[in-house]
Amino acid sequence: MAKILYVEDNVANRMLVSQLLEPLGHTVIEAVDGITGIQAAQDEKPDLILMDINIPGMDGYETTTRIKSLPEMGNVPIIALTARTMAGDRERALTAGCDGYIAKPIDVDELPKQIDEFLDGRRDTVSLDQESDYLREYNVRLVDHLEQKVRELTAANEEVERRALMKGRFIDLAAHELRTPLTAVHGYLSILTAPGSPFLSNADENTREIIEGVVIGVDRLRGIVQDMLDVTRIRAGTLQLSYAPVTLSSIFKRIERDFSKVVARRNQILIVADVSHIRPLWVDGERLTQILRNLLSNAVKYTPDGGEVELAAEVVGEDQPSGSEPLVKITVRDSGVGIPPDQHHLIFEHFHEVREIEHHSTSKTEFMGGGAGLGLPIARGVAEAHGGSLWVESDSYDPEACPGSKFHLVLPFGKVPQN
Ligand code: ADP
Repeated sequence: MAKILYVEDNVANRMLVSQLLEPLGHTVIEAVDGITGIQAAQDEKPDLILMDINIPGMDGYETTTRIKSLPEMGNVPIIALTARTMAGDRERALTAGCDGYIAKPIDVDELPKQIDEFLDGRRDTVSLDQESDYLREYNVRLVDHLEQKVRELTAANEEVERRALMKGRFIDLAAHELRTPLTAVHGYLSILTAPGSPFLSNADENTREIIEGVVIGVDRLRGIVQDMLDVTRIRAGTLQLSYAPVTLSSIFKRIERDFSKVVARRNQILIVADVSHIRPLWVDGERLTQILRNLLSNAVKYTPDGGEVELAAEVVGEDQPSGSEPLVKITVRDSGVGIPPDQHHLIFEHFHEVREIEHHSTSKTEFMGGGAGLGLPIARGVAEAHGGSLWVESDSYDPEACPGSKFHLVLPFGKVPQN
């Protein structure tokens, strides 16, 4: 008994054929269009394929040609089924690679017999002369179809680009609009919380707590607005870098200081390597610190309490043959939940998050706390603006086993300008 793949968009026909063939012991697999038909042929390796010609997307001729070119599928008989009774339909089907042709409506008495014949080795052919005529016609139609698809894709691509541009403009506009009132709120808060401020000293415990909460919230908002502005600058290539000689050890010390409280609160171990032997880099120190802050806050965020986060660096390519400059490679390693390989490139895209937005908490450092999904695109953008690169290494996502992640930032030492 045979495994039969039936590629057909019409549900009534699919039911009819299944009801006809399954009682005879055949297994009928159904596919509703050409693309799923090709996939099913690859996955299921059927003994025979019934191919409706008039299907959406790739038509039955094109689908047949494609299936016939798949490894191990060349000898599987494909029988065209078509209601379109134009002169030459049979020849067209055979030219496209079909081994037989059955006209619709399906003759319920005949179909099982015809299928048995093809399973037993029957193969219909077309004369060479006819084949070359129909091949020419088929080629023209294929190119036509291709042209139409290219036009559709180009239009769709233009639409995607237009929307991306609008999104960019919206981010830019929203960031600028938010910045003004936020600056005012921040200014008033600074007056309220300045050392020796009468507002604070006269306030009771409750009010102080409320003010603290507002300060944290406003700082977070300012960070998000700043990130939005950075994103637009990176995208527009207008990010300004203030180059100066910077030692990595000074930056590492700053990061260690910044993160010491958070790490202690999360009961994590932060290992910061001694990098005092690495010569100074010619970079924007604030921007480099920003990259490392983003990477470290992710490492802390996606590592459970009690885990480990490490910040290290090495010089690479020092012994290379002349011509290539040595680089510095900074690595942020964590013992956290990890990132599935199929997400490695996506996490560097704007607003991409591996998990659903509903799982967000607003914390930058709590375990699995959410964020705006801008930290990594900004970090990569800043790295690239320095002529460097940023990528991730991680085996899988597993919140139980915690395979961990490593983010590698490679930067050129940079050249001190000679004047
Ligand atoms: P977010 O603000 O969401 O942290 P990011 O751009 O910094 O945005 O990161 C994007 C996504 O990449 C995160 O939502 C998270 O799913 C994943 N990710 C980043 N760093 C790590 C890490 N160290 N471990 C596991 N997942 C991470």
